[in-house]
Amino acid sequence: CGVFGVWAPGRDVARMTYFALRALQHRGQESAGIAVGDGKTVLVRKDLGLVTQVFSDADLAAMPGHVACGHCRYGTAGAKGWEAAQPHLSTINNVIIALAHNGTLVNFDDLRRELIDMAIPFRSNTDSEVAAKLIGYFTQRGHRLRTGIAHTMRMIEGGYAMVLVRENALYAFRDPHGIRPLVLGRLGDGGWVVASETCALDISGATFVREIEPGEIIRISDDGLRSERGCRPLTPANCIFEHVYFSRPDSVKDGSSFYLMRHRMGARLAQEAPVEADLVISVPDSGTPAAEGFAQESGIPFGTGLIKNRYVARTFIQPTPELRQMGVRLKLNALPDVVRGKRLVMVDDSVVRGTTSLQIVRMLKEAGATEVHVRSASPMVTWPCFYGIDTANQDQLIAANMDLEQIRSRLEADSVAFLSTEGLFACVPPNGYCTACFTGAYPVQIPRSFYEEKFLPGYE
Ligand code: 5GP
Ligand code: SF4
Ligand code: MG
Repeated sequence: CGVFGVWAPGRDVARMTYFALRALQHRGQESAGIAVGDGKTVLVRKDLGLVTQVFSDADLAAMPGHVACGHCRYGTAGAKGWEAAQPHLSTINNVIIALAHNGTLVNFDDLRRELIDMAIPFRSNTDSEVAAKLIGYFTQRGHRLRTGIAHTMRMIEGGYAMVLVRENALYAFRDPHGIRPLVLGRLGDGGWVVASETCALDISGATFVREIEPGEIIRISDDGLRSERGCRPLTPANCIFEHVYFSRPDSVKDGSSFYLMRHRMGARLAQEAPVEADLVISVPDSGTPAAEGFAQESGIPFGTGLIKNRYVARTFIQPTPELRQMGVRLKLNALPDVVRGKRLVMVDDSVVRGTTSLQIVRMLKEAGATEVHVRSASPMVTWPCFYGIDTANQDQLIAANMDLEQIRSRLEADSVAFLSTEGLFACVPPNGYCTACFTGAYPVQIPRSFYEEKFLPGYE
């Protein structure tokens, strides 16, 4: 998901949030929402659909205020429907809060049950609502909201970046490993913004200040910006899939754009898995920076072999394999004039289930390509994610179930190769990373009750 928050008296904070959410739209297309605080109360508007479908000009004009947060939701297997749209409103002793959450709480089921036992009602079965209700529960009359947030952070486990508004203040906090991203930016006229990615600072006219630290809570109000520790920071585990795929290429992390990192991944892949070919093509858009890097390093020309329909959203979200296949063909079409008679290197950012690659290899061969060599700029995805990217269960991950030769044959490709994990590390700035989807080394323990459903038989 994408989250954003702004504190900027005198500015049109609803509209700023709207534009920031549009910049973060790639992080989630299922629902969108904005909550605004005007000094007296908090108003929220949210619905299923893209940001542009949910908000009209009149909607935004009807949301005056000086503090706001927003959310765009990534469609994963969990709860669907309007009730899952965010921000989540809840009331604590007559104070209204709205919470926007990116991430997944692995222990939310147990916490939810405990809250229900205490007669606390729920509208959805989302982890985000559990967080909102816990904050409410721990913020007793007279207590500061920060105390409630800190207590909540000590209870919840997983990867999360949350932004919360009340009528007169903005809060932002991040899980103790820093799995999910959250950055802080400054507006020229004294306001502040927080966002999942720096591309949302750019559109807001904010300059990057720093990341929200793992375990940190910040509060922004008339008193300025206050920072405090919500819980003890743990080993840093920044989600490396942000670098591989999820973040926009023009966003920046640890001083480097994701574009540059992906370009390096492609170049490194060309060193690790060279192949004789006539043309390097990308699977647009996510594969393009890596394909450029591959072409540059290998000296093989880069060309456009696939045309993307800009009006189709991310295809892996479709519920069934058949619809995903349809989705791929709707989204991408081959250019026979470019690929006919050529030996192609087809570079994608990642091969997860293999649905995309198989369809594209077929399309390219139907269009006359003589060879198609599949290159994945990420290592093999062999483990499910539980911290907000929520890649498929292990039985659906092609690399968890097949060896390289089997994958090659399944994809109907002439060769296939994946970047090594060492190679990936060499392309990203030094930091602590979560790499669980490649290595199975989970920074936050997975509840045993998940094992049977999510992992292949025999996982201990
Ligand atoms: P697949 O191999 O699953 O058909 O698709 C791989 C392509 O879709 C890559 O281009 C990658 O950009 C994207 N992708 C596929 N599945 C997922 C997923 O579960 N999560 C994310 N974040 N990206 C995915
Ligand atoms: Fe990111 Fe993979 Fe870790 Fe999930 S398991 S948080 S996708 S690195
Ligand atoms: Mg892609």
